Amino acid sequence: MTDSNKVVSAASAATEKDTPARDAPISNSPARLQMSLAAAMTLGLRSGIFYRGATLSCINLLLTYESGCAGSCAYCGLQRQRGGRFSEKSFIRVEWPSFPLEEIIGRIGGHPERVDRVCISMVTHGKAVDDTLAVARSLRPLDAAVSILMAPTVLDRDDIVALRDAGAEIGSVAIDAATEELFDRYRGSAVKGPHKWERYWQCLADAVEVFGERKAGCHLIVGLGETERDMARTIQKVYGLGANVHLFSFYPEEGSALAERQPCPPGQYRRLQLASYLIQNGFTSSEGISYDDSGRISDFGVDPEEVKIVIDSGIPFMTSGCPGKDKLVSCTRPYGDGPPGDIRSYPFTPNMEDIAKIRMELADMGPTPGEYLNMEDNR
Ligand code: SF4
Repeated sequence: MTDSNKVVSAASAATEKDTPARDAPISNSPARLQMSLAAAMTLGLRSGIFYRGATLSCINLLLTYESGCAGSCAYCGLQRQRGGRFSEKSFIRVEWPSFPLEEIIGRIGGHPERVDRVCISMVTHGKAVDDTLAVARSLRPLDAAVSILMAPTVLDRDDIVALRDAGAEIGSVAIDAATEELFDRYRGSAVKGPHKWERYWQCLADAVEVFGERKAGCHLIVGLGETERDMARTIQKVYGLGANVHLFSFYPEEGSALAERQPCPPGQYRRLQLASYLIQNGFTSSEGISYDDSGRISDFGVDPEEVKIVIDSGIPFMTSGCPGKDKLVSCTRPYGDGPPGDIRSYPFTPNMEDIAKIRMELADMGPTPGEYLNMEDNR
């Protein structure tokens, strides 16, 4: 952990500010955690009902620190350059209110019928590993599986083993960008961020080894400027490593460096959702797929009749996330990467009307990656 040690040190220095003044309200993890608005609704901590009856059985938690996250990812709402208190910043698209850990545990324990998984998202902070371990251990008495969305820059393989021993069942890594160039541009040296492409892939490989095949996951964001060929190859690489792919459609987060960019074109996301399903279920491979001159998918390399059956099932277009006890997906993240009026990852099985819309989107070639980036430049 050479490079990451530097980051740990930098982040550790920041933690000195985290010690709350006497009698000040505790605002740092592990005593307090942020929670997705959808999870807060599931636990009755926020009122509201989900559009079209979507459900969520995974409680998505996020470590929170007054001193913030040491990363500066250009698309993330938590980035350091953005003003405001860290605990009031949103992570992706939706609000992430914070609650005391004790209250969270009490709520989860009080609603075992609603919750079958809890996910702890780390941030890049010197205390993140210890605090994640503390939270994971405190969740052990509950009847819920635990996923950890790991921060590779501040942990090593021994930490992953410790997370597993603390009760985590799945370990995921948000590599997010499909190529090293995009990773550096939006997460690494170009934004003075601490993250390193190789470290993230090593962490994913370690997670597969520690948690087991298909017990590790990789978040990838479609629409950061990569070609569809780039993303299909990265999906193939993740699958080949023994991990599962969790796709997200890029949506501009208010206040982030990419706030002015357009959301991922729908056709691009639909084709990658379908490619991801076909690759991960053995129908095709990134090399078996054909691409046009702009790197857009022109043929999946699968019998059209089979593709039709797969599309009609609607399953490839649902949120890809960690599973539930008896559910394909527990982490449905309702409307986390697109508004209810323009759903990108369906938190339920799409109906016939949805499938008709999805078919049109699949056929919509939209802008090439170059045109898409020009649209951003010309705004
Ligand atoms: S898919 Fe969901 S539950 Fe799994 S690691 Fe990612 S955010 Fe957590």
